[in-house]
Formats: sequence, structure tokens, C-alpha cells
Amino acid sequence: MICESIYERNESFARSAAGRLIDKLEREHCLSAKEYEQVLAACSREGIAYIAPKARAAADAVYGKEVYVRGLIEFSNICKNNCCYCGIRRGNTDCERYRLSEEEILDCCRDGYSYGYRTFVLQSGEDPYYTDERICRLVREIKKRYPDCAVTLSIGEKEKESYRKYHDAGADRFLLRHETADADHYGMLHPAEMSFAHRMQCIRDLRETGFAVGIGMMIGSPYQTLHHLAEDLKFIEEFQPEMCGMGPFIPHAATPFADQPAGTLDMTLYLLSIVRLICPTVLLPATTALGTIDPLGREKGVLAGANVIMPNLSPVSVRKKYELYDNKICTGDESAQCRNCLDARMASVGYKVVVSRGDCRRERNSK
Ligand code: SAH
Repeated sequence: MICESIYERNESFARSAAGRLIDKLEREHCLSAKEYEQVLAACSREGIAYIAPKARAAADAVYGKEVYVRGLIEFSNICKNNCCYCGIRRGNTDCERYRLSEEEILDCCRDGYSYGYRTFVLQSGEDPYYTDERICRLVREIKKRYPDCAVTLSIGEKEKESYRKYHDAGADRFLLRHETADADHYGMLHPAEMSFAHRMQCIRDLRETGFAVGIGMMIGSPYQTLHHLAEDLKFIEEFQPEMCGMGPFIPHAATPFADQPAGTLDMTLYLLSIVRLICPTVLLPATTALGTIDPLGREKGVLAGANVIMPNLSPVSVRKKYELYDNKICTGDESAQCRNCLDARMASVGYKVVVSRGDCRRERNSK
């Protein structure tokens, strides 16, 4: 099992230009886009060995040796969008579609509560059946039954009025990855009917509505360059999200990106550490995608500065069908097993999974 660090340290990295920039990032929490690009270009085992302990120390200073868990309920894989990277895109006719009923979702929450989860993340494709009214009713019911829990929505792009309704119904947080901060790159990942401007508008609307907001991007998505990633970092630095979801891109066989290479473990770990130094208080998940490309990906993610894990709470009968990418892990395990497995995994690297809502510890309106 891994002990203290992910890779062996090499002291000469500290003296390199990238090493100095990482020191500056650690002190000042910001760099220019050009400097971010220079840091990114130095992604290597030495670079990770240098930055990861700094990122971990920054996370420990805010959150201690604790990791938060979120019970992820993938309640529908029906989607009206056709994102080029995603396995549940509407154009994938091989995908067996499902939708959980409100009762089934509440059953997942009941199970999750008994395992100690105090945040439920409701994620789905953009499924028109789940109207604002249905989402609000569901949120209100969950908050009524479990007032000590946070509800996070991850249901895509809506109008501001809808976001306001969800927030009024009691939803606390919203995850909507920006996917890329570069408009041209956005166009390469999405069909023409989707727009970068609308995505960004949604993210601003969510913030104005009062949600704790999660943004993020895939690492190694098709056509992504270091320049694009530097733009992502600049956006993260400026927006100061409460949460930031980053996992490797993994191709799905029934998408236009079937033959594209997956993102790498090293680049993902490196980005987790950089983002932790930009925003020491950000809630940063070690994603299931990271656990999919490396059997110890989530443990390594935590050692690189992540402090959240999102085990699956969906019924085993539907798990395999929520396949955003190929070979997704944990699709056969019962939720209770997932909980025990993650406790052991986190303990193996010196971290404890805690029973708590796990809110972002940043004061509102301050960096
Ligand atoms: N419909 C919701 C939820 C999307 S799924 C929404 O639009 O927000 C959550 C995230 O999974 C996406 O934002 C995307 O970044 C990621 N994802 C999708 N396909 C992926 C793939 N092939 N590899 C890795 N991550 C993927």
C-alpha cells in the first residue's frame, strides 16, 4: 500500500523554474495564465512529488486528516443532450435507459443516511420528466426527512428561475462543470446546439442564486492543450468555486470519442494539487473516474490534496447503465460495501471518512 507520498522526491525540482512557481502559488494562491502553463508543462513524477505534499498540507490545515463523503444517486440516465464525450448522450442508442422514481430515490437516501452520509448528490442526464416541480418536491421531501443533510443537485443547465426554485426548496449545492474555459475547445466537445456562453451564464446564475457551486473539467479531454488547462486554472482562481470536480477523461465506446486516449493519472494528480494551492478551502473530490484509471487512484488523489469522495448510492440494478465512460468501477457493489471499502482505502493513507455535511470552510465573499 502507498505510504506517505505518491512518488519519490527529487530535490533538484525545487530549484527549477516550475518549482519556484509552485512555491509562489503556495504563498500567493495565484499565477498568470502563462505561469500556469509553465507549471503544467513540468508535470512529471518529480513535479508531483514536489507539489503533492504542499497541496496535502494546505488541505490538512483547513480540513485536517478528514475526508468527506457524498452519497451519489444517479437517478436518471435519460438525457436530451448529445455531448461528444458522454456515454449517456442522446445519440447513444445502445444505452439502456432508466429513471428512478421519487420513492426509489428516497430509499437510496434512507440507506445512505444509515451508512452515515450527510450529503446526497442527485445526478442525472438532462431528463425532461424531472420538471422543476418534481425536483423541488423531491428536494423538499429529502430535507424534511433528513434536515441535517445537505442536498446537492447535478442536473445540468437550467434557467435562473429554475435554479431559484430548487434553492428555495432547500437544495444547498449545485455541481455544473464548466468542462473547459475555452470557447473554441468547448465547441469541439459539444454539438453546435450547446453553447459555452450559456454554460457560463448558468454558473454565474447558480452563484447569484445562493448555491455553493461546483465547477470543473475533465483532464485529458480530446483536443485539450496545456493552454486550455491554464485557462481553466485562471477561471478557477477567479471564480473561487466552493467545489471543483476533476477526473480523467475516459473514452466510451459508443461516442464519437471512442478512439481518443484517456487522461492520465499523473496529469490528474498534478491538477488536483495545483487547484488545492489555488483554493486551499475548496472541496475537491477524488473521483470515480480517477479510481477507474488506477486501482489506487482515489487514495493517490487524497494524497495529492483531494478531500471528498463520492461513493455510489444508486441501486445496483441500474448502476451499470449510468455509464458515462467505459469500465466504470463499483458498478456491482452494494452501497454498504462501498462505504466499508472506502473507509479502509482512506485509512490506508492515514485519512478518516467522517459523518458530516462537510460544508466548504470558506467565508462567503472572501478568498
Ligand atoms: N447532466 C449533468 C451531469 C453530467 S455527468 C450535467 O450536465 O452537469 C457529470 C460529469 O461527468 C460531466 O460534467 C463530465 O465532466 C463527466 N464525464 C462525462 N463523460 C465523461 C467521460 N467520458 N470521461 C470522464 N468524465 C466524463
